[in-house]
Formats: sequence, C-alpha cells, structure tokens
Amino acid sequence: MRRNRMDARDPAPEQLLELVAALAATAASEIDCDQLAERIAPFVESLEDGRTRLCSDEARAVEQHLAVCVECREEVDALRAALRDLP
Ligand SMILES: [Zn+2]
Repeated sequence: MRRNRMDARDPAPEQLLELVAALAATAASEIDCDQLAERIAPFVESLEDGRTRLCSDEARAVEQHLAVCVECREEVDALRAALRDLP
C-alpha cells in the first residue's frame, strides 16, 4: 500500500468509519431477492417469536437486503401480518 508521508500517522476516525462501512456493504454475505426468498420464512418466524432460526451471518445478510429493497420489505411485512392472523 502506498503511504503518503503527510497522512502516515493516525487516520481520521471518519476515514476509518467509511472504510468499515464500505467493507460491510461489500461483504460476501450480500444476497439478492431470490436468495432472500429462501430465508424469509425462518427470518420472519425468528422476528415473531424471538427464537433464532438463522445464523448471525444469514440474519445480517437478510437485514442488509431489506435495508435496500422495498419489495422484499413489503414481503416481510405481509408474511408477518399473515403469521399474526393465524389462529
Ligand atoms: Zn429484494
């Protein structure tokens, strides 16, 4: 890695935060709508009764996708509503 002598000391906290955020955004756990569909049922069940059915990586991947995809968020909402309507 190239070093700039002026910046060789402590990086600014903002720069570190940006780096961490960029790494998180490009994590290998990133999933698309099809992959989310496979995890949506256990994810919603976990939300409803608080019992974890996904490993933390999977749950994070689902949350990441829901943060950027309105369609899947609506899907989750519909599924949660349906689960609550069960007798
Ligand atoms: Zn989606």
